[in-house]
Amino acid sequence: MPSARDILQHVFGYPEFRGDQQAIVEHVADGGDALVLMPTGGGKSLCFQIPALLRDGTGIVISPLIALMQDQVETLAQLGVRAAALNSALDAGATRAIEQRLRDGDLDLLYVAPERLLGPRFLDLLACCRIALFAIDEAHCVSQWGHDFRPEYRQLDILHERWPEVPRIALTATADPPTRREIAQRLQLDQARQFLSSFDRPNIRYRVVHKDNPRRQLLDFLREHRSQSGIVYCLSRRKVEQTAIFLAGHGIMALPYHAGLDATTRTRNQHRFLREEGVVMVATIAFGMGIDKPDVRFVAHLDLPKSLEGYYQETGRAGRDGDAAEAWMCYGLGDVVTLRQMIEQSEAGPDRKRIERRKLDALLGYCESGHCRRRLLLAGFGESYRRRDGAADCGNCDNCLHPPERWDATEAARKLMSCIHRTDQRFGAAHVIDVLRGAQTEKVRQFGHQRLSTWAIGADLEARQWHGVVRQLVVAGLLDVDVDGYGAVRLTAASRPVLRGEQTVELRRDAAASPRSRRRGSEPTPADGGMPPPATARLETLRALRGRLARQQGVPAYVIFHDTTLRAIAMERPRDMEALAQIAGIGARKLERYGALVLAALAEAPPPSSPTMTDSAEATLTR
Ligand code: ADP
Ligand code: ZN
Repeated sequence: MPSARDILQHVFGYPEFRGDQQAIVEHVADGGDALVLMPTGGGKSLCFQIPALLRDGTGIVISPLIALMQDQVETLAQLGVRAAALNSALDAGATRAIEQRLRDGDLDLLYVAPERLLGPRFLDLLACCRIALFAIDEAHCVSQWGHDFRPEYRQLDILHERWPEVPRIALTATADPPTRREIAQRLQLDQARQFLSSFDRPNIRYRVVHKDNPRRQLLDFLREHRSQSGIVYCLSRRKVEQTAIFLAGHGIMALPYHAGLDATTRTRNQHRFLREEGVVMVATIAFGMGIDKPDVRFVAHLDLPKSLEGYYQETGRAGRDGDAAEAWMCYGLGDVVTLRQMIEQSEAGPDRKRIERRKLDALLGYCESGHCRRRLLLAGFGESYRRRDGAADCGNCDNCLHPPERWDATEAARKLMSCIHRTDQRFGAAHVIDVLRGAQTEKVRQFGHQRLSTWAIGADLEARQWHGVVRQLVVAGLLDVDVDGYGAVRLTAASRPVLRGEQTVELRRDAAASPRSRRRGSEPTPADGGMPPPATARLETLRALRGRLARQQGVPAYVIFHDTTLRAIAMERPRDMEALAQIAGIGARKLERYGALVLAALAEAPPPSSPTMTDSAEATLTR
C-alpha cells in the first residue's frame, strides 16, 4: 500500500507537501472530515485527490463550474489518474459511459455538478458504488451572502445523512469567519477538523501607481510582462472595449470580456485566454470566477476595485503555479470620485451605504499607505503578517522595495486650502491647480481668478505634484469632493486647523512616473529569475515543444507542463531520464510520455552564442 508521499512523488512528481497538505491528506485518508481554508493557488486539489487515490472506491468531487471540472480532469488524465466529469455539457451517451465506469469501479475521481449529484437517479446510482470520499469544492457557494451563492449547495447535507461513514472534505479560498461558520453549519461539518492556512501569496508582488497617463502607464507595465498572460480589469464595459482596442493597436494580444458581449464571443475569448500563451484579457469583474489557469503572470487594475476583499480575490488569480507574479493598480482622484458617486447614488439603504463607504475607505488607505502592502492586505483578513524568516515586512511590494519619501506638506496644504476657499469651493482639482500655478487659461480669465491673492502662489510644485496633494488630502478627509455636483473640491471641518496653522500635514512623495518606470524596467523581473542566456535558449525550445504537444492534444499548455517545471528543466539541463525524474512536476506518467521528447529537445537547443534574429535586430536599433 503506497503512502501519501509516494503518491505525491510518483503520480504528481512533487518532492514535498506544501503547508498543511500532508496533515489534511492523512486526516481524510484516515476517514476524518475536514474543512480546508487555503488561499487560491495554495494547493487545495491535492488535499482530496491523494486521499481518493489512497482509499478504496471513487472520490466524488462536487464542483460548481464546468470549466473547473474539465481543467482538473485533463490535468489528472495527464498524470494517469482515472478521472471524469459529469455535467450538463455531456450528451446522454457520454453520460451513460461515465456512469458505467463508476459502477465498474473504474474511476478514481468523479467530478459532478451539485444539481446532477442531487438528482434521485444519481443518488441511487451512488448507493450501489464504493465511495472513497466526498469533496465539496468552492464550499463558500453555500453562503447566501457571497456572490457565488448556489442554492443546491444547501442540500448537500444529504451526503452526511445518507453516507455517515464516508469522509467529507469541504474546501474554499474565502476566509472570512462568518462564511466559515456558515459552511460548517450548513454542511454539518461542525465536528470536522478545520485547517486554516495563511492567506499570504508570497509570490505576488503588489504595486500601486498614481494615475498620470493611465494608458501609457499600462503599456509600460505590460512591456515588463512581454508575452505573458494576464488580466487587465476595468470598471465599465465601454472602457474594457476601448482598452482592448488600444492595446491591440500597440501589438499586444488583448481580448475583451464583459457580460454585455454575446455568449459565443465570451466563450471564444475565454478559450483563447486559457489555451494560447501570452493573451491579455481586458475584462470587467464578470471575468475570473473559476479561471484556474495557473500561469496568469499579472493582474492589472486600471480602475479601483470595489473593496480590499474584491481586490484580494481578483489579484489572487495571478501566480497560482507559485511562480513570480505581479498585482498592479493604477489609481487617481477620479476613481475616488466615481466610486463615492456610485455609493451615494445607489438605491441601497443607509446601513448598506455606511458599510460600502467604510470598505472604500479601507481600500483607499491601502492605496495611499507607505507601509508594507502585504501586511495591510492580510490585516484586512485578521491575519498578522510575519515573513518566514521573521521579518515584519514582506520585501516584495513596492513600498518595501522602494520606501516612499515623506515630506512636510503643511505649507502646500494651506496654499491649496486657501485657494479652494478663494474660489468659493466651486471648482474641480484641475482648475484650482491652474490658479495655484498661475496658469493663464480661458477659465481663469473668465472668472477673473488671476486677480486672486492665491493666484500663482503654488508655482513651486508641478501640476502632477499638486494632484498628489489633493488626492492624499481627500483620502485623509482633510478635503472633500462634491460627489453630487461636478466634483468640486471643498473644505471640511478638518481643514480648519490646518488653515489656521494649528496642525501640520505630512504626505508621501509620489514617485515621478517616467524615471521610476525606467529604473524598474532595468530590474530583473523575478519571472525570468536572472536566467543565464543558455538556459533562456533552452527554455524557448522547451516552450515550443510544449506548445506543439498541447495543440496535438487540444489541451492548454499548462496541462502538459507548468512554467515552473519548464524553467527547472532549462536550468538543470538533465542528461537522462533519471535526472529528469528528479524535477518537480515530472511524475512517472509524464516521464514515460514526454521524457524522451524533452531530452531530445534539450540536445537540440541552440547554443546561446549565436544571437537570434531579434537579438541582432535590437542591437542594431539601439546602436
Ligand atoms: P487551489 O485549488 O488551492 O487554488 P491548486 O490545487 O490548483 O490550488 O494548486 C495550485 C498549483 O500548485 C497547482 O498547479 C498544483 O499543481 C501546485 N501544487 C500543489 N501542491 C503542490 C506541491 N506540494 N508541490 C508543488 N506544487 C504543488
Ligand atoms: Zn511589503
